[in-house]
Amino acid sequence: MIKRRKTRTINVGSVKIGSGQPIRIQSMTKTDTRDTKKTIRQCLELEAAGCEIVRVAIKDMKAAEALKAIKRKINIPLVADIHFDWRLAVLSIKSGADKIRINPGNIKNPAHIKEVIKTAKDAKIPIRIGLNSGSLPRAGFIASALKYIKLFEKENFRDIIISLKSSDVTETVNAYRKLAALCNYPFHLGVTAAGAYDAGIVKSSIGIGALLLDGIGDTVRVSLTGDPVQEVIAAKRILQALRLRSFVPEVISCPTCGRCQVNLGAIVNELEVRLSAMKHRHSSDGISIAVMGCEVNGPGEAKVADIGIAFGKNAGILFKKGKIVKKVKTKNATKELLKLLCAGHKP
Ligand code: SF4
Repeated sequence: MIKRRKTRTINVGSVKIGSGQPIRIQSMTKTDTRDTKKTIRQCLELEAAGCEIVRVAIKDMKAAEALKAIKRKINIPLVADIHFDWRLAVLSIKSGADKIRINPGNIKNPAHIKEVIKTAKDAKIPIRIGLNSGSLPRAGFIASALKYIKLFEKENFRDIIISLKSSDVTETVNAYRKLAALCNYPFHLGVTAAGAYDAGIVKSSIGIGALLLDGIGDTVRVSLTGDPVQEVIAAKRILQALRLRSFVPEVISCPTCGRCQVNLGAIVNELEVRLSAMKHRHSSDGISIAVMGCEVNGPGEAKVADIGIAFGKNAGILFKKGKIVKKVKTKNATKELLKLLCAGHKP
């Protein structure tokens, strides 16, 4: 069990963020926000994949205005991402953003930051203080974060979420760890500019994973160069691997070796596809499915999983809670596993 760092609870639209809540999954659209049709479509794709809070880039007044139309068509909280121009933050709040992210590192004038705080306070929405190593004031992450926290608190504003992202994993982890001991605001975790698919997932898993294991982090975004739906899938996998949340039954499969006599890769792929298609049909809380290539470790692993299969030459032995259920032909393995999974779970 991971013991979460205690934080305040912050409301982002209908979604609560903080240590008393599940760790939330966020992503960001990659469309031009002014193109509302494309942006709405991408938001809905993210929603369908399991994204719980979506952020859009506000690069001009037209994008800030577009928030109104986008918000009407989506069902998850909408966050406006602001850099440089405080007036974009004010207009975004007035257009209905459920939260804004500002990078105080590039809004230099404290009077402008105060104006943004005042507008957010009137609208009763939170602000993420999103510090990035690329635009960090000389003082560094911790001194800067503390300076802005103090500025916000002086305005009697405490609906704050903080992020301290760097593209360097160690720097990111160290910064969050240090700040965790110095305040009780929720943290949004991420390794910024992590890279394309494989490289980005490895960096994010190490950075976000290390912090989550420490109990640090209340929302996550896996930054990937590519389809944002993949960011959501990766975030879900990180949270599920640490048993912080459960989205689909966990598949435990062996790497195979010379002893395996079936095409285990194809069987596991088919199973994963079918499981994700079924995800809304029954609770998958903590369920594990072992798919093992032979009798060396197969029966042992299959026994400890909720259900499992260990393959021989043309057939596999099905297990449920450690007991042999039956022998099935290899070609029917996926179908039989899913039948066993669904037995006892109401659709
Ligand atoms: S379970 Fe069998 S096939 Fe799979 S890696 Fe172990 S020995 Fe090889």
